[in-house]
Amino acid sequence: MALKSKFCAKCGLEKDRLVGNLCSECFFDLHEIKIPKTTEFALCSKCGSIRVEHFWVAVEKQNRDVFSDQVKKAIKVPDEIKVIKVDLIKIKPDGLIEVTYDLQGTIISKEYRCALRVNKQVCPPCKIEARTDYKAKLQLRTKEDPQKFLKDCYDFLSAYKKRLLKIEEFKMGVDAHLRSRKDALELAQDFKQKHKFECHMRETREEYSWDRKKNKPKYKSTILLTKK
Ligand SMILES: [Zn+2]
Ligand SMILES: [Zn+2]
Repeated sequence: MALKSKFCAKCGLEKDRLVGNLCSECFFDLHEIKIPKTTEFALCSKCGSIRVEHFWVAVEKQNRDVFSDQVKKAIKVPDEIKVIKVDLIKIKPDGLIEVTYDLQGTIISKEYRCALRVNKQVCPPCKIEARTDYKAKLQLRTKEDPQKFLKDCYDFLSAYKKRLLKIEEFKMGVDAHLRSRKDALELAQDFKQKHKFECHMRETREEYSWDRKKNKPKYKSTILLTKK
């Protein structure tokens, strides 16, 4: 019975396991492993979403895991090696990663320098949300004499400056953007009382975004008050 050689062809050490005719250390020495020198991550500073390739994803997992996956994908190894996992030891411009390989049954971990940068940005959904940050809108409208009505509106709203986010003027009235539905309802009541107007009131609700933390839709109320 011929004994299969257990000596590494390069270093000559006796090993239990050889890959081809090399021990695992020599296999790594002789085969090129490409580790990215720099990896940049885009992280949304508002919602914590991460850009993976070209998509922004809301991550349930720890950010670190998603970052590691990104580094893992960028590592190039010969066919004989499988990358099991990547640990980000230090997420810094002078960062450090640990890569664990499976070389045909032999598990080996190695550390490498890799500049890891986290770029804080604002993801597109958050940008849209920031633009439409009001939660309620009070629309004051009239059917006649808009000039007088607009003046009444501005006089009235000037007392609520702190609660108003924005006023938009239209031909037959104004839209007042407010932070909460409660504010909008209160203002609507005050407006009716102050001016003793006969008004018609209608409220509509619109889903405008998804609350990732509470896992439910976010609503925006529009209260339309039309002077009869
Ligand atoms: Zn060897
Ligand atoms: Zn975001």
